[in-house]
Amino acid sequence: MQTLHDRLQAVRSRITEAEKCYHRTPGSVQLLAVSKTRPVDDLIAVMQCGQTHFGESHLQEALIKIKALSQNNITWHFIGPIQSNKTKNIAMHFDWVHSLDRLSIAQRLNKQRPISLSPLNVCVQVNISNEASKAGLTPMDVLTLVRQVVDLPRLQLRGLMTLPTLTSDTAQQRRAFHALWELWSQLKHANLPLDTLSMGMSQDLETAIAEGATIVRVGAAIFGERKIPPTSPDTSKGHYL
Ligand SMILES: *Cc1c(COP(=O)(O)O)cnc(C)c1O
Repeated sequence: MQTLHDRLQAVRSRITEAEKCYHRTPGSVQLLAVSKTRPVDDLIAVMQCGQTHFGESHLQEALIKIKALSQNNITWHFIGPIQSNKTKNIAMHFDWVHSLDRLSIAQRLNKQRPISLSPLNVCVQVNISNEASKAGLTPMDVLTLVRQVVDLPRLQLRGLMTLPTLTSDTAQQRRAFHALWELWSQLKHANLPLDTLSMGMSQDLETAIAEGATIVRVGAAIFGERKIPPTSPDTSKGHYL
């Protein structure tokens, strides 16, 4: 049986190989271990192999893990949908948010970010495949929100994130990632301070790296397949459990 350690090593090799293959600077792609639905013991096992960045998408579940692992030097990323009643705990307990998609949430996070902590790192989520069912802003609305976020002192704008349609069609996948990269590049040319492109998951991280990803968010390839059926309510909103 493959251990968590073996699977983590395999994912690390895939990233290193893709960096080489697509002429990316070695070490320029960061691995975010997506640990939603996983028990704390699995996080500890992965942490013992040197993984320090973890992504969670359900707040209540995440808070339990953050508390259990508070003695460790973990960087926590929130990657799930954000309702306004969640912002306070996100602002207090996370280092990053990848799923920002509206000004009212940005303002709340800005106000609630404790002064004792450094500004909250944020990525704006883009609905790059432009599907009605998906979370995220249309590319047209991204510029507006990004400019507003720059003016919020307790938020540090870092980049863009997307969760494109899952497809086994690599060309289609690649077009979606390329479109996000293009939008990101345009914003950078407009002097917006972006250094992060959060895209690519277990199935398509190579394609994302080819198109410029700086963070890949990987769950199943590290922790094994999730056992929750795909009919659960969250997937209908375009979020993976
Ligand atoms: C679950 C999830 C991932 C990881 O997906 P895998 O297919 O398990 O690698 C990445 N990003 C988001 C936003 C997710 O919800």
